[in-house]
Amino acid sequence: MILNRIAHCLFAHQTSTQTTWFALIITSLWLTETVAVSQSTTAKWRHTALNSLFIVSALPIQVAMMLLCGCVARWATHWHWGLVFLLPNAEHPLIKYGLMFVVLDLLDYVYHVTMHHVTVFWRFYLVHHTDGSSRGCFEHRVRASR
Ligand SMILES: [Zn+2]
Repeated sequence: MILNRIAHCLFAHQTSTQTTWFALIITSLWLTETVAVSQSTTAKWRHTALNSLFIVSALPIQVAMMLLCGCVARWATHWHWGLVFLLPNAEHPLIKYGLMFVVLDLLDYVYHVTMHHVTVFWRFYLVHHTDGSSRGCFEHRVRASR
């Protein structure tokens, strides 16, 4: 009964559903990393604390970029400008989501490179690189672009 109420609250609206899925995925990845990577509990919590600090310190820039992207998307939709309006069958889910995947990956790459190369942004972003274990393949792509 109480689980049904909790589930109803978490999945009642689109935003709460997305937030719940995001939290579940992040938590499951964190737990998987805990099991798969042999790391002391102290090192794991230190890594988690640094990542949390990174999220908080990068938040102003993330929100500003999100608002900018939202405004650009609204403008492009209003004026029917952009790749989506040039493609045949652009409403087909495979084309739509494939295009979104490529564009989001490109924007994430641009965001990452910008954070590295603009001094003011780098000061916010530096926390991300304080933790020696937070290097992934994405990081190697950015380093290769230098
Ligand atoms: Zn980086």
